[in-house]
Formats: sequence, structure tokens, C-alpha cells
Amino acid sequence: MRGWWREISGLVLPGACEGCGVPRTGLCAGCAGALGGGGARARRVRPAPEPAGLPVVHAAVPYEGAVRELLIAHKERGALGLGGALGGALARAVEATVGGSRDGPLLLVPVPSSRRSVRARGHDPTRRVALAAAARLRRAGWSARVLPVLRQRRAVADQAGLGARGRWANVAGALEVVPGGARLLVAGRVVLVDDLMTTGATLAEAARALGAVYPPFTPGTAARCRSDSAQHEFEQRVAAVIASSPASFEINRNSSETWIVAGGER
Ligand SMILES: [Zn+2]
Repeated sequence: MRGWWREISGLVLPGACEGCGVPRTGLCAGCAGALGGGGARARRVRPAPEPAGLPVVHAAVPYEGAVRELLIAHKERGALGLGGALGGALARAVEATVGGSRDGPLLLVPVPSSRRSVRARGHDPTRRVALAAAARLRRAGWSARVLPVLRQRRAVADQAGLGARGRWANVAGALEVVPGGARLLVAGRVVLVDDLMTTGATLAEAARALGAVYPPFTPGTAARCRSDSAQHEFEQRVAAVIASSPASFEINRNSSETWIVAGGER
């Protein structure tokens, strides 16, 4: 009900820019530009330390400034009018994950929110943005749809305030594929999607849950692909997010063909 009311009131009563507070715009040109990455391509991102089993992740923009405000406004304040703009950014990251290949259809699998937070927020922000991204991709000529096959199998604590190791322990084993979901995954090219990557713990857990029922998402598959950088565009274990920490973009100072192995974990 709250989400419904926000959606209607947002249509008839545009307020201040959710990114910077400029009145009467909803989303000003400057903040829309920040979300567009200034025309820059979505980039490969890697957290440090990197959790075991993390798929290859691409992000549209760094999580800072107006981008941070817009994501929080959408997720926590129900600024649903931002869904299209955020979906456009996510669509760019999805396109980057599949490289030049047009093999499809693309199946966007959103990282699920807990039932508790969906209830509290009045909507599921990641699923909503995934739907907007799929619509954007279809307009760009892709076959794309959202496949919400992941769910929480147990409650997890709020990740805020937890360090990297605390987050990994908090989410380990927390997700599963819904009954009947495995057979839907074979219908196309799976891309895990989320709004934000911080430590990568949640995406690694989502990948583990998918890999349990869907062999192309098991880490062994990735190791074979990673041993030959020329096969990058055939990477099976991929994820796309709107934003990731500025530090996680640092990988791009090196060649995309260079693999940094942090802490000897691989
Ligand atoms: Zn603004």
C-alpha cells in the first residue's frame, strides 16, 4: 500500500531531485549524468579481499556522491520514479558482462531481499530495477527477462556495520533456488544482478546457490574460463550491479587481461 501510494504521488507531485535536492525535478540532469557514468562504459570490478566463488562482476558506476544518494532514495525512501534511470545503469552493466556476444536470451536473476525488508520498504528494490533493466535491454534489441529464482532460506542480520569476514559468515548458506527454478535457468544466459556490491559476500553466496543446481555456475567452470583470457566473453559466472565501491574499480588500472590474485586465495 505504501509503495502504491508513493508511486501515484510521485507521478503527480514531483519533488526535489533525489540525488542532490534541487527542487521540482525528481532527477536533475547532473545526477542523471552521474548515473550514466558520464557516458563511460560499465567496468569490471573486484573487491579486496575478494570472497571465494565471486563471479565476474561488472558495475556501471562508482558508489559515491549522487549515485549513493539515488540508490538510497530508491531502496529506503521508495523513490520509485528512479527505477527507470537505475534500470538503465544496470542494463549497461549487464551488457558489459556478456561482452560482444549476442547469445541469449539473457536471464537476469536478482539477489533477493528478505521478506522482512520487502514488507518494511513496501517494495523489492533489486527486483524492480532488474525489471526496468530487462525492459531497457529489450528496447536495445536483446531478448531479456527477469528470473526471480533465488530466495532466502534463513534470515540474515543487517549487513551494515559488519566487516568483510562478518558479512561472509552472515550470508553463507543463506540463499537457495526455489523448487523448479533449476529447469528455468537452462533457457538462456544467466546474469546475477544486484543494486550494489560492497564486499561481494552476497553475490558470492548467490552464485553458490545457483551453482548448487545449475552446473555452469559452479566455480570449476569459471576456473577453466579464467585460465584463458581470450575466453572472457564466454565466462559463464557473471554478475552485474549498478554501483560498486570506488576502490573496486581500481582493477581497471591494469589490463583487463591481467588477473590479480589477492592473498593467494586461488
Ligand atoms: Zn540532482
